[in-house]
Amino acid sequence: MLQQTTVKAVIPYYEKWIRRFPTVSALARASLQQVLRTWQGLGYYQRAKNLSKASRILVRHHEGRIPDDYAELRKLPGFGPYTTAAVLSLAFGRSYPVLDANVRRVLMRLLGLEGKADGRTDNELFKALTTLFSPENPGFFNQAMMELGALVCRSRNPQCLLCPVIDFCRAVREGKQEIIPAPKRISLTRLEAVVAVIRKEGRYLLQKRAPRGLLADLWEFPGGKIEAGETPQAALKREVLEETGGEVGRIRFLTTVRHAYTQFQVTLHVYACEMKSPLSSPGKAYRWVTLESIRRYPLPSGSVKIVHFLKNAEKKPESKKRRESA
Ligand code: SF4
Repeated sequence: MLQQTTVKAVIPYYEKWIRRFPTVSALARASLQQVLRTWQGLGYYQRAKNLSKASRILVRHHEGRIPDDYAELRKLPGFGPYTTAAVLSLAFGRSYPVLDANVRRVLMRLLGLEGKADGRTDNELFKALTTLFSPENPGFFNQAMMELGALVCRSRNPQCLLCPVIDFCRAVREGKQEIIPAPKRISLTRLEAVVAVIRKEGRYLLQKRAPRGLLADLWEFPGGKIEAGETPQAALKREVLEETGGEVGRIRFLTTVRHAYTQFQVTLHVYACEMKSPLSSPGKAYRWVTLESIRRYPLPSGSVKIVHFLKNAEKKPESKKRRESA
């Protein structure tokens, strides 16, 4: 049922189906018309026909039981490599990795493999999956990978700050999580911009973007495009003054972040600085937030990378202190 269909859409149909056909033999006894009536509304009716045919084969050749053997399962109608591996690992704990659309996207991003998610890189992905694969609990491993893709590493707006594998992710390191797998259209316009990381009493200044236009309503560090002939430091002072009404000083270079959005590619020159005068831009939404609470704010992916940099920078003195006291 879950082929081409979300869990949310499937649940009521699944419950109705299990009430109507609680066993393989109950399904095998039902006429095709009864089967299709119960399936009605879920679409892709070939799946229902395959289930009906498969149930009859199971009753005839396997005493109504589902075999835990790859070759036998693959003979059943509707059992391709994906469904077979999913049933064997989830229901029988057998060591078969599953490569569905979610897992494919997660792996392509982790490995930084560019290109479309059209199966051309599947051999490479399977090799990587086999190295990562956990034979102790194949069912949990497969479900964890599928859930990671469905809930965190989503096709649009991946939630990298919540991701348990961000430290191993090549797409994030290279600022490419928005363009892996390749979207239909990608622009090659390149921009240079500055970002001001302004810290006060352990909190960082965030501002909200306008409700319309590019990256609407997301939160970000102040900053903006470097104009022709401008130095990054001059652009930083001008942008912060324009956006917050305040002046900055004690400017110190932190890092450079490159990020590819579908609409443009940007190089962000990131500076730490301090406010010399209060914020005075009416109508703008600002927040001073800790790195811990920043995950509650939706950020553009370029800012996510800066937050990751700041978190690592905060961790380093801690681990140094621990080493010194050990
Ligand atoms: Fe996906 Fe982001 Fe996690 Fe990488 S860090 S796997 S892109 S959610």
